[in-house]
Formats: sequence, structure tokens, C-alpha cells
Amino acid sequence: MSRFLNDKYSSLEAYTPGEQPRDMKYIKLNTNESPFPPSKAVVDAVSAEEVEKLRLYPDPECKELKEAIASLYGVERENVFLSNGSDDILNFTFMAFFDKKGVVFPEISYGFYKVYADLYALDYKQVELCEEFSIDANDYMNTGRNVVIANPNAPTGMTISLADVERIVASNRDAVVLIDEAYVDFGGESCIPLTKKYDNLIVCCTYSKSRSLAGARLGFAIANKELIGDLEKIKYSTNPYNINRLTMLAGIAAIKDNDYYMNNCRVIEENREYTARELRKLGFEVLDSKANFIFAKSDEVGGEELYLKLKARGILVRHFTKERIKEYNRITIGTMDDMKAFVSAVADILCEVRK
Ligand code: PMP
Repeated sequence: MSRFLNDKYSSLEAYTPGEQPRDMKYIKLNTNESPFPPSKAVVDAVSAEEVEKLRLYPDPECKELKEAIASLYGVERENVFLSNGSDDILNFTFMAFFDKKGVVFPEISYGFYKVYADLYALDYKQVELCEEFSIDANDYMNTGRNVVIANPNAPTGMTISLADVERIVASNRDAVVLIDEAYVDFGGESCIPLTKKYDNLIVCCTYSKSRSLAGARLGFAIANKELIGDLEKIKYSTNPYNINRLTMLAGIAAIKDNDYYMNNCRVIEENREYTARELRKLGFEVLDSKANFIFAKSDEVGGEELYLKLKARGILVRHFTKERIKEYNRITIGTMDDMKAFVSAVADILCEVRK
């Protein structure tokens, strides 16, 4: 740390992204990326001709992409906010709205919520998950705070029902409720339609997972137009050109190829069920996931030990050190070949530790 850093950031604990190793080729099941490439239309859209246009700034209003997103999700262009990955949407939301009443979110959830709460020195509360790792909507009634919930939650993959989301939004009418739907396309139910009914709901989405565009950094929020206007104000006060030209083109093309991506999601769901079944046969406890990952633990091999032994075999999964979840690993669902290799490596490791 230099001697120049502002005092308010001196004790900030930054988010640690999952490993993106360059040393060798791993079966990468650690950062919830899609195992499938972007569709051909996306590859074609990012053409040499468009690369040449990179000398020009992109459209700061992102009109075409906003219109495409609005029409896919059944809202108006004024209900859409775009940003450089959904982390950026979370950042802007915490910055724009959470000073007034502080914020509440589950204790076990996406690690970035706490980082943003610390970054903006917010008053925040973390609510424990239930015994079996589910979120109890009753814990979020009339909180007197802004609320953030990932649905499906991460790293558990577990969902709350649309009816529970509505109860939370309806009981916190004087605060903003942010529902993070990063993983909704793998079997969850989106609450986007509720944004028409409630002016305090922001739905945060990403094209990093189901749309194979993690490297392009494209996130968006859907909400009523006043909330979107506030997010735009923050964007124009920080980085007006937050969606680059190539990402804009990739996003528009991806929306046109929606069927390709939805089909990939169904394949990932099948591969998830296969993997969960195989792990259970091997004695694992596997939480019921509706995301493109599963969260699992074995009584025979510790969480960190399994992570390290898999890594030594060229397979990367995500291990967290937090006390309550340290015996688990989060396993991104890849292709069937990836998952067969994973299951076979786990079986091999169990034989080794049983000796
Ligand atoms: N929300 C959740 C729950 C996530 O797991 C992630 C991925 N790390 C994000 C948001 C951010 O994704 P991105 O910035 O790639 O859109």
C-alpha cells in the first residue's frame, strides 16, 4: 500500500476473483463460465471491419442493444440499464441507493456484496441462511433496509420462489430490493415481470453465464424508469462509454440467437443432474441447484483437500474458506465430457483417501 491511499480504503478487503490460471490447460469448473462458445452470429458480428472502427467511441446511449434487450424481456428501452458486467451494476446500485437505509443480504451469498458495502462504508447486516442453506423470505420482511438477494443464490445454487420475491419487494416498499439473477437461466424463474408492478425492484442480469460472453463484460439491469435514470446518472458521472463497441455488437447478435443459448442451458441442466446424481452415488451431499454449478461436500475428503487433489489432476473447482462452507466445493457445470472426467477424478481421489 502506498502512503497516498485514502484512509477510507486502507482496511478495505477486495474481492478475490476465481483463479484464471495461465500455467497449463485445466478443465475449468471454477468461475461459472459457459463451456460453449458464443454463437456463430456473435463471432461474425465482431468482424475485422468492426475492429477497424475501434478508433471511434461507442454509442454512450447503447440504443440498439437496449432495444434488443427490452424486446427480449418484454419491457421498454427506458427500463434497461447496461454496464460492463453485472458487477458494475451491483457497484452502481450500492453507490446510488444504499446510503440512506443501509443494506441487508444473506451471510452466505455472492462475496462482492460485502465488498461493495465496505467500499461505500454502508451500514449492512448479513442474515444467516437456514440450516439446509436455503433463504427464508420471512427474514427479509419489513427490514427497514435495502435488500440484496441472489436468486438462485451463490454458491449454493438454491432458489426462492417468485411468490417469496414478491413478498420481499412488497414488504420493503420504501427501500430498493435488488434481485441478482446472474444464474436464472438454468432453471430459475425471473422476477423481471414484477418490475412493472413495483417501483422499488431492480433485477440484475448478466450475459457472462448463459450467453457465453464472460470475456465481453455485459451486464444489464431492468427496473422502473426512475431507478434506471438514477443508474444512468451514476454512469454519466463515472464512465459514459461503459459498453465498448465489440461488446455492443456481440450482445445484439447473441439476442438474435436466443434459441442457441437456451438450448445450451438445457444441456447444462442435464449435465448438472448427471453430476449431482453421480456425486450422490459417491456419498456426497449435493445441494439442490438451479444454477450452472453445484455445491457439494463429502464426509470422506475435506473441501480444501479435494480442491487441491482435483487441481493436481488438471481440474479446477472453487473452494471457499468461510467456516460454514469450507468443507464444500462449488463445481461449475461443463460439457458432458468435462463432467465425466470430473466424476472419474473424484472417484479416483476417494479410492486414494480410503486406502
Ligand atoms: N452476481 C453473481 C451472483 C455472480 O456469481 C457473478 C459472477 N461472479 C456476478 C454477479 C458478476 O458477473 P459478471 O460481472 O460477469 O456479469
